[in-house]
Amino acid sequence: MNSVVRTTCPYCGVGCGVEARPAENGGYEITGDKHHPANFGRLCVKGAALGETLGLDGRLLYPEVGGERVSWDAALDETANRLQAIINEFGPKAVAFYASGQLLTEDYYAANKLMKGFIGAGNIDTNSRLCMSSAVVGYKRAFGADFVPCSYEDLEQTDLVILVGSNAAWAHPVLYQRLAQVKKLRPQMKVVVIDPRRTATCDIADLHLALRPGSDAALFVGLLNILQPSLAINSFDGQNAALEIAAEWSLEKCADFCQLESAAVQTFWQWFTQANRAMTLYTMGINQSSSGSDKCNAIINVHLASGKIGRGGCGPFSLTGQPNAMGGREVGGLANQLACHMNFEPADIARLGRFWGSERIAETPGLMAVELFEAIGRGEVKAVWIMGTNPVVSLPDNSRVAQALARCPLVIVSDVVCETDTSRFASVKFPALAWGEKNGTVTNSERRISRQRAFLPAPGEARADWWMVAQIARRLGYREAFDWQHPQQIFSEHAALSGYENNGTRAFDISNLAYMTSEQYDALEPVRWPVSGDAHSSFKSWRENGKFQLLPVEPVLPQAKVDHYYPLILNSGRIRDQWHTMTRTGSVPRLMQHITMPIMEIHPRDAKRYGVTHEGLVRVASRSGGMVAKVRVSESQLPGNVFVPMHWNQQFARKGQINSLVASVCDPHSGQPESKQTAVRIQRW
Ligand code: SF4
Repeated sequence: MNSVVRTTCPYCGVGCGVEARPAENGGYEITGDKHHPANFGRLCVKGAALGETLGLDGRLLYPEVGGERVSWDAALDETANRLQAIINEFGPKAVAFYASGQLLTEDYYAANKLMKGFIGAGNIDTNSRLCMSSAVVGYKRAFGADFVPCSYEDLEQTDLVILVGSNAAWAHPVLYQRLAQVKKLRPQMKVVVIDPRRTATCDIADLHLALRPGSDAALFVGLLNILQPSLAINSFDGQNAALEIAAEWSLEKCADFCQLESAAVQTFWQWFTQANRAMTLYTMGINQSSSGSDKCNAIINVHLASGKIGRGGCGPFSLTGQPNAMGGREVGGLANQLACHMNFEPADIARLGRFWGSERIAETPGLMAVELFEAIGRGEVKAVWIMGTNPVVSLPDNSRVAQALARCPLVIVSDVVCETDTSRFASVKFPALAWGEKNGTVTNSERRISRQRAFLPAPGEARADWWMVAQIARRLGYREAFDWQHPQQIFSEHAALSGYENNGTRAFDISNLAYMTSEQYDALEPVRWPVSGDAHSSFKSWRENGKFQLLPVEPVLPQAKVDHYYPLILNSGRIRDQWHTMTRTGSVPRLMQHITMPIMEIHPRDAKRYGVTHEGLVRVASRSGGMVAKVRVSESQLPGNVFVPMHWNQQFARKGQINSLVASVCDPHSGQPESKQTAVRIQRW
């Protein structure tokens, strides 16, 4: 493979196009793809360093059973036999898949089809549960479907951008650069950042609201109250109840609840009401909360009520964390969805049964991430296939996740890395293809489907995840339904299933991509759905067909509460140069230079109060566990709050894993954990 290959960055949900070209040193030079509409050639530091992550050090290259290298046939036969035995004895709900926003859409589709279509249980969930499942609930409750009504180019048309719970400068850098460019060209466009921390994103903010952690919903519920007079009677379902609650949230009450100056809140509300066009960009600070779904609806409510939706430069825009979180949503990678955004409803179940030729379609939702690992711990789930993710680091209360896996009779791990915190518990390891080797599609935050193309040969005996799933499916007796030879066949099948009518519209429709030849698939240019028509006009026609909902939202504070023993609130998040649990970015020396070890940021007043010093070590402890970090004294923190990055795994910092501290408290609607707020105490170490 010698020529330039156009592909897509495997990190965040911005979904930047990249070009890989052979370099003189035998490696690959990675540059931004000037023709990709997500980034127009820009890359952040992580994307630019992709060429340095292509080595085979630490790679899992051969299948293993019980820690011994075996042939693929032996590994697949053994795995299928053990899965079948568990299903026969304990039923389909005794097995589960735990997937990842790193998987390609074709991989995800295959896994979802096997579990929900043929094994017959809903038990496939994904690490995207930790990322944006509250946003999905918000959209579905408001619009009746999981539809993101915004695109990146809306930033170029808007008058006001509100970033809530988003450090886009570090977590979605290229999108932030695009926003910063707009701000430079049109300084009159206002930017509001709502975040307890003063992050790098605040550099372009006209207003930073450093609110009490987790109090965000009040700002939007109070704003809805201001919008009330301009709302026609009965425009939305739930309108009266939503407005009734909003009427209770005066400016003074909101400011008090959020611990902000009334004048600052009023400025924000005035800017929103006066702006012709406004967008609200939100991510983990909203989603990772025990009331995350309600916060999403509080945001959507003000866009619906003000008419700042369904036209250019407007709308509530959930930014996804992972490269293919959106693709996972499309194929039903969440335990409470079926394929192609279908629901566990009789008509959808019947449609899927006809399409897949199966009478075993799951009829009820499966276990969501946190409850899935709890069920493993209780012995109810006896086999789990973990695909491309590291839950022993990334799930809350991770020591219990490790304990659960230690007692699970069958743990299958498909991964590119040989040794991870999770693969220590694997009965079977399947070597997966990495970025640069695999071939398929991903969908970014703005619903844009892009190709990830291979430019490297498969090393050792590594195989595509969809291939492994199909091989297991065939051994379980479903050869015909999984008789794929190429990812294009899977994508075609997925596209052909889309385009059905839901709530008066064809919300997820890529059906005219169903009949591509493999050459057309190989050449597929980035394309956004709905493929025929733009998002705003689709949204408008949809609105004309049925009522949307204003969801009544009563603002509440996080479940994490400080007390005498645990007096500080711990916030967690990404840092600029690392990705997830560092299994890829941790191998690049220059990315390790930015922040070299787990840090804890603390306000100077608290540093003094608790006797910790800048650059000293500190032990951070919660009711669930503890970790050690290096102190950074910084005025970017609010007093009473500390911040620790989420990334460090066992390999890089044995005592530095934040998720040993985070409790597995979840939003009741989305199942998303409250990873943003944990009550902790600190002590010099
Ligand atoms: Fe990759 Fe995201 Fe950086 Fe773009 S912004 S290069 S998708 S990590």
